[in-house]
Amino acid sequence: TSSDLDTAAFGEQHIAKGIGRLTKHVFEEGKGTFITTDKGVKLLDLTSGIGVVNLGHCHPKVSAAAAAQCNKITHAQVNIGFSAAQIALLKELIPILPHKSLDSVFLWNSGAEAVEAAVKLARNATKKPNIIVMQGSYHGRTNATASMTRSKTIYGEGHGPLMGGVFATAFPYYSQFGSATKDTPKEDLVNEALLQLKLTLQQQTSPADTAAIILEPVLGEGGYVPAPPEFLQGLRKICDENNILLIVDEVQSGMGRTGQMFFIEESGVRPDILIFAKGIANGFPLSGIASSKELMDLQKPGSMGGTYAGNAVACAAAKAVIEVFREEKILDNVAARSKQLFSFLQDLKSSGTKAGNLIEDIRGKGLMVGLQFAHPELQRGSSNTASKEAKVQPQIAPKVVQECVNRDMLLLSTSVFDVLRFIPPLTISEEELDQACKIFKESLEAVAK
Ligand code: PMP
Repeated sequence: TSSDLDTAAFGEQHIAKGIGRLTKHVFEEGKGTFITTDKGVKLLDLTSGIGVVNLGHCHPKVSAAAAAQCNKITHAQVNIGFSAAQIALLKELIPILPHKSLDSVFLWNSGAEAVEAAVKLARNATKKPNIIVMQGSYHGRTNATASMTRSKTIYGEGHGPLMGGVFATAFPYYSQFGSATKDTPKEDLVNEALLQLKLTLQQQTSPADTAAIILEPVLGEGGYVPAPPEFLQGLRKICDENNILLIVDEVQSGMGRTGQMFFIEESGVRPDILIFAKGIANGFPLSGIASSKELMDLQKPGSMGGTYAGNAVACAAAKAVIEVFREEKILDNVAARSKQLFSFLQDLKSSGTKAGNLIEDIRGKGLMVGLQFAHPELQRGSSNTASKEAKVQPQIAPKVVQECVNRDMLLLSTSVFDVLRFIPPLTISEEELDQACKIFKESLEAVAK
């Protein structure tokens, strides 16, 4: 019978196949940068569970805070009363949000739910229907967020009709512009993308119909590409000129991932609505949006909320997360490990070896690092491009990921543009990162052979 099956085999039999899965490992325990499987295999985790356990698996202080909350109250329902755990969290969270205007918060469970809450708020506040998203964006898998997701067609395929009123414009990423290469000046990419946005507002959805522009300030699933500050500033200007709200999705780039609490800080740009999730509670389901009180309060009482919104245990964990960032100077480690990782990857790229020559571009910030592979058959910008079949399809990244998995290291790829993403826990030590780099090099050499 099924209950006699090996654990992984039981999973194959009884868990939805629609969940794509990188490995057949069964995760039993996690500690810091490592996960142990039911077979006792110790895996080096460079994924942080897709950018979630930023403080490492089962950080003792976070786990203790959650356990303590379990013995106080687990479900302090927010449509019935205030949650003490939520308020204690917000006293810590609001001061670290990336702009002082962000003083009102709504807590939810998952990233996608928070994105939906932001869209509802934007539409209701502006009384306008349409949303502009970036090409390559990822905002989730619910009906509304799948319609806003433009990183891969699989998220929408066969699921339509999805939410309407969504228009896509270009992100300043050379892989999205036919003749651009990695050497195209940033300034040109920014100008081109801002021009595309102006055209979008003239040709597809007029400012009178456009409630918001939403973007990931570091394009995530679409290829790990940080937006230049000039692009973010340009967006802010266009939003101001056209009475459009700017929504910044920092679900993946937030909570210290890029070396600042939120990536948008660097540009000085004020988001009208900020979205956060993932790292906020280090593995407990918690997300939220923040805006000015003036904007947030345009939502009528009863229009927001949900059974588990801002769960008390998740809030207690999140409060501990913020304390650990301060006490353990996590951002200092991000800066040091980021330098270590970039210099390793750059040395490998310029080593002149077969493995190094596969690397086209290394980018990102902090410990949100993308590595794009070179595709010699796709010589964009060269005169004979037209005669060659344009293959935009990951070919190298999935093989490297498999070689890493074979060596007991978890690494993720992303995008349709053959990109790997390095997102280790922000607490990773120098020795652990050295070990990861060594495994990565061996894996890349195995593919390059
Ligand atoms: N926005 C971004 C930028 C994300 O990276 C993700 C998750 N990868 C989401 C939204 C959706 O979050 P969730 O999976 O928690 O719904």
